[in-house]
Amino acid sequence: MAKKGLTFQNLNLDGLVKSQVAIFFVCNRLILIHANSIFCEFCAFLRLHQSWKLVKEKSAMKICTTCVLPETFPGIEFDKSGVCNYCRKSFVRKTTAAELKVKYRNKFLALIAEIRERDCYSERPYDVIVAYSGGKDSSFTLKVLTLEFQLKVLAMTFNNAFLAPRAMENIKNVCRSLDIDHLMVSPNQGMLTRTFRNSIYADCYPPKALQRASAICNVCMDLIKSLVLKTAIEMAIPLISYGWSPGQIPIQSSVLRLNPAMLKQAQGAMKRCMQKIMGNDSVPFVLRERHFDLFSGDTYNICPLAFLDYDEQKILNEIRVLGWVPPEDTDANSSNCLLNALAIKAHQERFGFHPYAFEIAGLVREGHMTREAGLKRLSTPSDSKTLHSVAEKLGVLAV
Ligand SMILES: [Zn+2]
Repeated sequence: MAKKGLTFQNLNLDGLVKSQVAIFFVCNRLILIHANSIFCEFCAFLRLHQSWKLVKEKSAMKICTTCVLPETFPGIEFDKSGVCNYCRKSFVRKTTAAELKVKYRNKFLALIAEIRERDCYSERPYDVIVAYSGGKDSSFTLKVLTLEFQLKVLAMTFNNAFLAPRAMENIKNVCRSLDIDHLMVSPNQGMLTRTFRNSIYADCYPPKALQRASAICNVCMDLIKSLVLKTAIEMAIPLISYGWSPGQIPIQSSVLRLNPAMLKQAQGAMKRCMQKIMGNDSVPFVLRERHFDLFSGDTYNICPLAFLDYDEQKILNEIRVLGWVPPEDTDANSSNCLLNALAIKAHQERFGFHPYAFEIAGLVREGHMTREAGLKRLSTPSDSKTLHSVAEKLGVLAV
Protein backbone atom coordinates (compact mmCIF):
# COMPACT_ATOMS: atom_id res chain seq x y z
CA MET A 1 0.00 0.00 0.00
CA ALA A 2 2.62 2.52 -1.07
CA LYS A 3 1.73 6.17 -0.76
CA LYS A 4 1.87 8.16 -3.97
CA GLY A 5 3.02 11.70 -4.50
CA LEU A 6 3.80 14.25 -1.83
CA THR A 7 3.55 13.31 1.79
CA PHE A 8 4.76 15.28 4.76
CA GLN A 9 4.05 12.59 7.32
CA ASN A 10 6.59 12.32 10.08
CA LEU A 11 8.74 15.16 8.83
CA ASN A 12 10.67 16.42 11.79
CA LEU A 13 10.33 20.13 11.31
CA ASP A 14 12.24 21.11 14.45
CA GLY A 15 15.26 19.39 13.01
CA LEU A 16 14.49 20.97 9.69
CA VAL A 17 14.56 24.54 10.99
CA LYS A 18 17.73 23.79 12.86
CA SER A 19 19.48 22.29 9.89
CA GLN A 20 17.89 24.57 7.29
CA VAL A 21 17.42 21.57 5.08
CA ALA A 22 14.22 19.67 4.36
CA ILE A 23 13.46 16.25 3.02
CA PHE A 24 10.49 15.87 0.72
CA PHE A 25 8.96 12.68 -0.47
CA VAL A 26 8.26 13.18 -4.14
CA CYS A 27 7.00 10.15 -6.02
CA ASN A 28 8.48 8.08 -3.21
CA ARG A 29 11.98 9.49 -3.64
CA LEU A 30 13.87 11.52 -1.09
CA ILE A 31 15.13 14.88 -2.25
CA LEU A 32 16.90 17.54 -0.25
CA ILE A 33 15.85 21.18 -0.43
CA HIS A 34 17.71 24.05 1.22
CA ALA A 35 15.40 26.20 3.29
CA ASN A 36 15.12 29.96 3.68
CA SER A 37 13.10 32.03 6.13
CA ILE A 38 9.95 32.08 3.99
CA PHE A 39 10.22 28.35 3.72
CA CYS A 40 10.36 28.04 7.52
CA GLU A 41 7.08 29.94 7.84
CA PHE A 42 5.64 27.36 5.50
CA CYS A 43 7.10 24.67 7.76
CA ALA A 44 5.28 26.04 10.79
CA PHE A 45 2.03 25.62 8.91
CA LEU A 46 2.99 22.10 7.92
CA ARG A 47 3.83 21.24 11.53
CA LEU A 48 0.30 22.13 12.62
CA HIS A 49 -1.16 20.28 9.69
CA GLN A 50 1.04 17.27 10.46
CA SER A 51 0.10 17.08 14.15
CA TRP A 52 -3.58 17.25 13.30
CA LYS A 53 -3.24 14.60 10.62
CA LEU A 54 -1.31 12.20 12.88
CA VAL A 55 -3.82 12.51 15.73
CA LYS A 56 -6.68 11.94 13.30
CA GLU A 57 -5.01 8.92 11.67
CA LYS A 58 -4.01 7.27 14.96
CA SER A 59 -7.46 7.59 16.50
CA ALA A 60 -9.13 6.32 13.33
CA MET A 61 -6.82 3.37 12.69
CA LYS A 62 -8.61 0.03 12.97
CA ILE A 63 -6.54 -2.71 14.61
CA CYS A 64 -7.31 -6.43 14.90
CA THR A 65 -9.01 -7.16 18.24
CA THR A 66 -6.89 -10.29 18.74
CA CYS A 67 -3.41 -9.41 17.46
CA VAL A 68 -1.84 -6.03 16.58
CA LEU A 69 -2.19 -5.87 12.80
CA PRO A 70 -3.65 -2.58 11.54
CA GLU A 71 -6.06 -2.03 8.67
CA THR A 72 -3.14 -0.76 6.58
CA PHE A 73 -1.45 -4.19 6.62
CA PRO A 74 -1.44 -5.77 3.14
CA GLY A 75 -4.21 -8.27 2.48
CA ILE A 76 -5.90 -7.79 5.85
CA GLU A 77 -9.65 -8.38 6.29
CA PHE A 78 -11.65 -8.18 9.50
CA ASP A 79 -14.69 -10.24 10.44
CA LYS A 80 -17.70 -8.86 12.37
CA SER A 81 -15.82 -9.20 15.69
CA GLY A 82 -12.86 -7.26 14.33
CA VAL A 83 -10.61 -10.35 14.14
CA CYS A 84 -8.21 -10.35 11.18
CA ASN A 85 -7.86 -13.11 8.59
CA TYR A 86 -4.25 -13.79 9.76
CA CYS A 87 -5.57 -14.61 13.25
CA ARG A 88 -8.45 -16.70 11.89
CA LYS A 89 -5.99 -18.79 9.91
CA SER A 90 -3.82 -19.31 13.00
CA PHE A 91 -6.79 -20.49 15.16
CA VAL A 92 -7.01 -23.55 12.95
CA ARG A 93 -3.34 -24.34 13.53
CA LYS A 94 -3.17 -23.46 17.23
CA THR A 95 -4.00 -26.95 18.50
CA THR A 96 -0.98 -28.35 16.71
CA ALA A 97 1.50 -25.64 17.80
CA ALA A 98 2.66 -27.49 20.94
CA GLU A 99 2.98 -30.77 19.05
CA LEU A 100 4.99 -29.03 16.34
CA LYS A 101 7.42 -27.65 18.91
CA VAL A 102 8.07 -31.16 20.24
CA LYS A 103 8.38 -32.50 16.69
CA TYR A 104 10.97 -29.91 15.62
CA ARG A 105 12.95 -30.13 18.85
CA ASN A 106 13.19 -33.89 18.33
CA LYS A 107 14.17 -33.34 14.70
CA PHE A 108 16.94 -31.02 15.89
CA LEU A 109 18.16 -33.53 18.51
CA ALA A 110 18.26 -36.25 15.85
CA LEU A 111 20.23 -33.93 13.57
CA ILE A 112 22.79 -33.22 16.31
CA ALA A 113 23.19 -36.94 16.92
CA GLU A 114 23.63 -37.49 13.17
CA ILE A 115 26.33 -34.84 12.70
CA ARG A 116 28.24 -36.30 15.67
CA GLU A 117 28.22 -39.66 13.91
CA ARG A 118 29.76 -38.30 10.72
CA ASP A 119 33.35 -39.37 10.03
CA CYS A 120 34.72 -35.86 10.00
CA TYR A 121 33.30 -34.97 13.44
CA SER A 122 36.59 -35.00 15.37
CA GLU A 123 38.37 -32.93 12.68
CA ARG A 124 35.62 -30.39 12.36
CA PRO A 125 36.39 -27.20 14.30
CA TYR A 126 32.76 -26.11 14.62
CA ASP A 127 29.32 -27.76 14.52
CA VAL A 128 27.44 -24.53 14.09
CA ILE A 129 27.99 -20.96 12.96
CA VAL A 130 25.66 -18.47 14.61
CA ALA A 131 24.73 -15.14 13.01
CA TYR A 132 25.35 -13.08 16.11
CA SER A 133 23.96 -9.55 16.15
CA GLY A 134 24.57 -8.94 19.86
CA GLY A 135 20.80 -8.59 20.42
CA LYS A 136 18.95 -10.47 23.15
CA ASP A 137 17.60 -13.27 20.94
CA SER A 138 20.88 -14.19 19.24
CA SER A 139 22.71 -13.92 22.59
CA PHE A 140 20.26 -16.43 24.07
CA THR A 141 20.59 -18.65 20.99
CA LEU A 142 24.38 -18.73 21.53
CA LYS A 143 23.81 -19.72 25.13
CA VAL A 144 21.45 -22.62 24.47
CA LEU A 145 23.51 -24.02 21.61
CA THR A 146 26.69 -23.89 23.70
CA LEU A 147 25.43 -24.92 27.14
CA GLU A 148 22.22 -26.87 26.59
CA PHE A 149 23.02 -28.64 23.33
CA GLN A 150 26.82 -28.78 23.88
CA LEU A 151 27.70 -27.79 20.31
CA LYS A 152 31.04 -26.43 19.08
CA VAL A 153 29.96 -22.89 18.26
CA LEU A 154 31.45 -20.14 16.10
CA ALA A 155 29.73 -16.75 16.52
CA MET A 156 29.86 -14.39 13.54
CA THR A 157 28.92 -10.71 13.75
CA PHE A 158 28.28 -8.45 10.79
CA ASN A 159 29.27 -4.99 11.99
CA ASN A 160 26.86 -2.84 9.99
CA ALA A 161 28.47 0.39 11.31
CA PHE A 162 25.34 1.14 13.35
CA LEU A 163 25.72 -1.30 16.25
CA ALA A 164 25.08 0.42 19.58
CA PRO A 165 28.28 0.81 21.65
CA ARG A 166 26.55 -1.20 24.38
CA ALA A 167 25.87 -3.98 21.85
CA MET A 168 29.60 -4.16 21.07
CA GLU A 169 30.29 -4.60 24.79
CA ASN A 170 27.55 -7.23 25.02
CA ILE A 171 29.06 -9.19 22.14
CA LYS A 172 32.46 -9.27 23.87
CA ASN A 173 30.98 -10.17 27.26
CA VAL A 174 28.72 -12.97 26.00
CA CYS A 175 31.44 -14.61 23.88
CA ARG A 176 33.91 -14.36 26.76
CA SER A 177 31.40 -15.81 29.27
CA LEU A 178 30.52 -18.71 26.99
CA ASP A 179 34.18 -19.17 26.00
CA ILE A 180 33.40 -19.34 22.29
CA ASP A 181 35.26 -18.17 19.17
CA HIS A 182 33.99 -15.03 17.50
CA LEU A 183 34.43 -13.53 14.03
CA MET A 184 33.61 -9.88 13.43
CA VAL A 185 33.23 -8.69 9.83
CA SER A 186 33.40 -4.91 9.53
CA PRO A 187 32.94 -3.68 5.94
CA ASN A 188 33.86 -0.06 5.21
CA GLN A 189 31.41 2.52 6.49
CA GLY A 190 31.11 4.45 3.20
CA MET A 191 29.84 1.38 1.36
CA LEU A 192 27.45 0.47 4.17
CA THR A 193 25.87 3.93 4.42
CA ARG A 194 25.47 4.04 0.61
CA THR A 195 23.84 0.62 0.69
CA PHE A 196 21.38 1.43 3.46
CA ARG A 197 20.51 4.80 1.90
CA ASN A 198 19.88 3.19 -1.50
CA SER A 199 17.80 0.43 0.05
CA ILE A 200 15.16 2.78 1.54
CA TYR A 201 13.24 2.96 -1.74
CA ALA A 202 14.52 -0.25 -3.32
CA ASP A 203 11.85 -1.96 -5.40
CA CYS A 204 13.54 -5.35 -5.71
CA TYR A 205 12.15 -6.99 -2.57
CA PRO A 206 9.03 -9.14 -2.87
CA PRO A 207 5.94 -7.77 -1.04
CA LYS A 208 6.11 -10.62 1.51
CA ALA A 209 9.66 -9.66 2.52
CA LEU A 210 8.57 -6.04 3.06
CA GLN A 211 5.54 -7.15 5.11
CA ARG A 212 7.94 -8.73 7.60
CA ALA A 213 10.83 -6.26 7.72
CA SER A 214 11.93 -2.86 6.45
CA ALA A 215 13.95 -2.57 3.25
CA ILE A 216 16.99 -1.54 5.31
CA CYS A 217 16.65 -4.66 7.48
CA ASN A 218 16.16 -6.80 4.37
CA VAL A 219 19.42 -5.68 2.77
CA CYS A 220 21.28 -5.99 6.08
CA MET A 221 19.93 -9.52 6.61
CA ASP A 222 20.84 -10.50 3.03
CA LEU A 223 24.44 -9.38 3.61
CA ILE A 224 24.61 -11.31 6.88
CA LYS A 225 23.00 -14.46 5.45
CA SER A 226 25.36 -14.46 2.49
CA LEU A 227 28.48 -13.97 4.64
CA VAL A 228 27.45 -16.65 7.13
CA LEU A 229 26.64 -19.11 4.37
CA LYS A 230 29.96 -18.46 2.57
CA THR A 231 31.84 -19.02 5.82
CA ALA A 232 29.90 -22.21 6.61
CA ILE A 233 30.67 -23.63 3.16
CA GLU A 234 34.35 -22.65 3.26
CA MET A 235 34.84 -24.09 6.77
CA ALA A 236 32.55 -27.13 6.22
CA ILE A 237 30.32 -26.20 9.16
CA PRO A 238 27.12 -28.28 8.95
CA LEU A 239 24.73 -26.01 10.89
CA ILE A 240 23.87 -22.33 10.37
CA SER A 241 21.88 -20.76 13.16
CA TYR A 242 19.83 -17.59 13.44
CA GLY A 243 18.20 -16.12 16.52
CA TRP A 244 14.83 -15.51 14.86
CA SER A 245 11.97 -15.24 17.34
CA PRO A 246 8.88 -17.49 16.89
CA GLY A 247 7.11 -14.46 15.36
CA GLN A 248 9.78 -14.12 12.67
CA ILE A 249 9.76 -17.58 11.12
CA PRO A 250 7.27 -20.43 10.82
CA ILE A 251 8.25 -23.41 12.97
CA GLN A 252 8.33 -25.59 9.83
CA SER A 253 11.46 -23.64 8.77
CA SER A 254 13.25 -24.03 12.11
CA VAL A 255 15.25 -27.11 11.01
CA LEU A 256 15.71 -26.82 7.28
CA ARG A 257 18.07 -28.70 5.01
CA LEU A 258 19.58 -26.52 2.29
CA ASN A 259 19.62 -28.40 -0.99
CA PRO A 260 21.74 -27.16 -3.92
CA ALA A 261 18.73 -26.16 -6.06
CA MET A 262 17.20 -24.14 -3.22
CA LEU A 263 20.56 -22.52 -2.53
CA LYS A 264 21.03 -21.48 -6.18
CA GLN A 265 17.54 -20.06 -6.39
CA ALA A 266 17.79 -18.10 -3.12
CA GLN A 267 21.23 -16.78 -4.00
CA GLY A 268 20.08 -15.75 -7.47
CA ALA A 269 17.26 -13.56 -6.08
CA MET A 270 19.52 -12.16 -3.37
CA LYS A 271 22.29 -11.40 -5.87
CA ARG A 272 19.95 -9.52 -8.24
CA CYS A 273 18.65 -7.34 -5.42
CA MET A 274 22.11 -6.68 -3.97
CA GLN A 275 23.40 -5.77 -7.43
CA LYS A 276 20.55 -3.30 -7.90
CA ILE A 277 21.11 -1.61 -4.55
CA MET A 278 24.89 -1.90 -4.22
CA GLY A 279 26.25 -2.27 -7.74
CA ASN A 280 29.80 -3.62 -7.65
CA ASP A 281 29.92 -3.14 -3.88
CA SER A 282 27.99 -6.42 -3.67
CA VAL A 283 30.87 -8.49 -5.11
CA PRO A 284 32.54 -9.43 -1.77
CA PHE A 285 29.21 -10.68 -0.38
CA VAL A 286 27.80 -12.94 -3.05
CA LEU A 287 28.62 -16.62 -3.44
CA ARG A 288 31.01 -17.54 -6.24
CA GLU A 289 30.76 -20.62 -8.42
CA ARG A 290 33.38 -22.36 -6.28
CA HIS A 291 31.07 -22.09 -3.26
CA PHE A 292 28.36 -24.01 -5.11
CA ASP A 293 30.98 -26.61 -6.09
CA LEU A 294 32.11 -26.92 -2.47
CA PHE A 295 28.56 -27.11 -1.09
CA SER A 296 27.98 -30.64 0.19
CA GLY A 297 24.20 -30.47 0.56
CA ASP A 298 24.51 -31.55 4.19
CA THR A 299 24.03 -28.06 5.59
CA TYR A 300 21.02 -27.06 7.71
CA ASN A 301 19.53 -23.74 8.74
CA ILE A 302 18.39 -23.94 12.34
CA CYS A 303 16.36 -21.46 14.42
CA PRO A 304 16.17 -22.91 17.96
CA LEU A 305 13.98 -20.15 19.44
CA ALA A 306 11.10 -21.33 17.24
CA PHE A 307 10.90 -24.72 19.00
CA LEU A 308 12.11 -23.73 22.49
CA ASP A 309 10.02 -21.95 25.12
CA TYR A 310 10.17 -18.28 24.15
CA ASP A 311 9.79 -15.95 27.10
CA GLU A 312 11.40 -12.51 26.79
CA GLN A 313 11.80 -11.96 30.52
CA LYS A 314 13.39 -15.39 30.97
CA ILE A 315 15.74 -14.67 28.06
CA LEU A 316 16.79 -11.32 29.57
CA ASN A 317 17.39 -12.93 32.97
CA GLU A 318 19.47 -15.73 31.48
CA ILE A 319 21.71 -13.53 29.34
CA ARG A 320 22.20 -10.94 32.07
CA VAL A 321 24.41 -13.45 33.90
CA LEU A 322 26.62 -13.54 30.78
CA GLY A 323 27.25 -9.80 31.09
CA TRP A 324 24.52 -8.69 28.65
CA VAL A 325 23.06 -5.26 29.45
CA PRO A 326 20.15 -3.69 27.47
CA PRO A 327 21.28 -0.71 25.36
CA GLU A 328 19.42 2.51 26.15
CA ASP A 329 19.74 4.20 22.78
CA THR A 330 18.13 1.61 20.47
CA ASP A 331 14.40 1.68 19.58
CA ALA A 332 11.87 -0.53 21.38
CA ASN A 333 12.13 -3.27 18.74
CA SER A 334 15.88 -3.70 18.65
CA SER A 335 18.40 -4.55 21.34
CA ASN A 336 21.50 -3.94 19.24
CA CYS A 337 21.02 -1.71 16.17
CA LEU A 338 20.78 2.09 16.11
CA LEU A 339 19.79 2.15 12.43
CA ASN A 340 16.55 0.31 13.16
CA ALA A 341 14.72 3.45 14.35
CA LEU A 342 15.24 5.14 10.99
CA ALA A 343 14.42 1.94 9.11
CA ILE A 344 11.07 1.79 10.93
CA LYS A 345 10.26 5.45 10.24
CA ALA A 346 11.06 5.14 6.56
CA HIS A 347 9.00 1.94 6.26
CA GLN A 348 5.97 3.47 7.99
CA GLU A 349 6.24 6.50 5.75
CA ARG A 350 6.35 4.38 2.61
CA PHE A 351 3.87 1.60 3.42
CA GLY A 352 1.68 2.94 6.23
CA PHE A 353 2.33 0.09 8.70
CA HIS A 354 5.03 -0.79 11.24
CA PRO A 355 7.63 -3.27 9.90
CA TYR A 356 7.55 -5.16 13.22
CA ALA A 357 3.74 -5.50 13.25
CA PHE A 358 3.86 -8.95 11.61
CA GLU A 359 6.42 -10.33 14.08
CA ILE A 360 4.71 -8.85 17.14
CA ALA A 361 1.32 -10.14 15.89
CA GLY A 362 2.84 -13.65 15.70
CA LEU A 363 4.23 -13.41 19.25
CA VAL A 364 0.84 -12.19 20.53
CA ARG A 365 -1.08 -14.96 18.74
CA GLU A 366 1.22 -17.65 20.12
CA GLY A 367 0.91 -16.28 23.66
CA HIS A 368 4.53 -15.10 23.99
CA MET A 369 3.44 -11.49 24.47
CA THR A 370 0.21 -9.78 25.56
CA ARG A 371 -1.67 -7.70 22.99
CA GLU A 372 -1.28 -4.62 25.21
CA ALA A 373 2.50 -5.11 25.44
CA GLY A 374 2.64 -5.58 21.66
CA LEU A 375 0.66 -2.42 20.96
CA LYS A 376 2.78 -0.50 23.43
CA ARG A 377 5.98 -1.67 21.77
CA LEU A 378 4.76 -0.70 18.32
CA SER A 379 3.72 2.75 19.46
CA THR A 380 6.81 3.56 21.53
CA PRO A 381 8.55 6.49 19.84
CA SER A 382 12.22 6.13 18.99
CA ASP A 383 14.80 8.26 20.71
CA SER A 384 14.93 11.42 18.56
CA LYS A 385 18.62 12.00 19.31
CA THR A 386 19.51 8.56 17.97
CA LEU A 387 17.21 9.02 14.99
CA HIS A 388 18.83 12.32 14.04
CA SER A 389 22.40 11.18 14.48
CA VAL A 390 21.76 8.04 12.41
CA ALA A 391 19.96 10.02 9.70
CA GLU A 392 22.87 12.43 9.54
CA LYS A 393 25.40 9.58 9.29
CA LEU A 394 23.32 8.06 6.51
CA GLY A 395 23.12 11.38 4.69
CA VAL A 396 19.33 11.66 4.64
CA LEU A 397 18.95 13.88 7.75
CA ALA A 398 15.75 13.57 9.76
CA VAL A 399 13.06 11.41 8.21
ZN1 LIG B 1 -5.24 -10.46 14.03
